[in-house]
Amino acid sequence: YTGKSGTQLLTENLMKLYVRDFQAVPVVVKEQSTVYEAIVTMFLEDVGTLFVVDDSVCLSGVLSRKDLLRASIGQQDLNTLPVNVIMTRMPNIAVCEKDDLLIDVAKNLLERQIDCVPVIKKTAKGFEVTGRVTKTTISRAFVSLTDDDH
Ligand code: ADP
Repeated sequence: YTGKSGTQLLTENLMKLYVRDFQAVPVVVKEQSTVYEAIVTMFLEDVGTLFVVDDSVCLSGVLSRKDLLRASIGQQDLNTLPVNVIMTRMPNIAVCEKDDLLIDVAKNLLERQIDCVPVIKKTAKGFEVTGRVTKTTISRAFVSLTDDDH
């Protein structure tokens, strides 16, 4: 018997949940894509957040459902409006890395009131997008704490 309390054990297990073990595949569009194309991509790929990449395939923006809705109720032609006009752009993007703890990403999602962060890898050219952590990812990790195999 270890003498550890339930809370201590729970905290110990939380500290084993890393981004790398739960991250989802990122869905990206190019800066030159139109808002129309982004909306189609969001439906086809069944995600709530798209990441926008520049010509060197580095992170330049984020598009949420509401960003696209907002653009759609404006008097603009969605077939010609490029996503880089409406996206949230670097350097104001919250990101995480594969070796981060999920609990820290979860805190960040709550603090910034966002649904999703890209998992990035720092390169000389900028941030390469390698994954995605969403509220669903956090829920899945939370549920995994009830599995016996850890
Ligand atoms: P929605 O707007 O569909 O409710 P979010 O809450 O995730 O989805 O997004 C709210 C706003 O924050 C949007 O304008 C979006 O572009 C921006 N946003 C989303 N994710 C991030 C992020 N990782 N970093 C910075 N801004 C973000």
